[in-house]
Amino acid sequence: MGDIPSVRQKRILAWLQKTPTLTTEALVDALGVSLMTVHRDLDTLAQAGLVEKVHGGVVLVNPPSVPLAGVCRLCHAPVSARTSFTIQQENGESLEACCAHCGFLLLKDYPAARVLVHDFLYNRILSADQALFLVESEVILCCMPSVLGFTCLHDATRFQRGFGGTVMTFEDTQLYLTAPQTHSHHN
Ligand SMILES: [Zn+2]
Ligand SMILES: [Zn+2]
Repeated sequence: MGDIPSVRQKRILAWLQKTPTLTTEALVDALGVSLMTVHRDLDTLAQAGLVEKVHGGVVLVNPPSVPLAGVCRLCHAPVSARTSFTIQQENGESLEACCAHCGFLLLKDYPAARVLVHDFLYNRILSADQALFLVESEVILCCMPSVLGFTCLHDATRFQRGFGGTVMTFEDTQLYLTAPQTHSHHN
């Protein structure tokens, strides 16, 4: 059993839903594969933004109550955890967007009580009003123009030096994206 990577990775995710932190040793035992194989599986899951490797183990990035994948309310593209943008409305309903680009466009029609975005570098969830956004950089993960979220100005400007674009606040990004001359299309 254990020799198909995708099957093993699903089992690791299922275990993490029950036990939020697992050691690599426990995974080696439970899966009956080598430590190297476990690390490869964890790297794959980490790259997908589903888990985070910590010293000697792994933790689940998304709390179990947050669905790992849905479709974007605006463009219907699958939502990846890495770029997701969540609008929490006053009535308690949450809307998922595939990325900040679609999320900002959705905000025009769905006023939010709270907006959650992902930090592009660290895959942490943060409140959008505290985030900085790098708009129209060369890194396009989802829709165009690309919008990436960052926790601090320092990270955003360092990233901008390498990949171009403009660093904007939440309000500026919203104005920029919803301005009439902005043409949007899914990548
Ligand atoms: Zn979308
Ligand atoms: Zn998108």
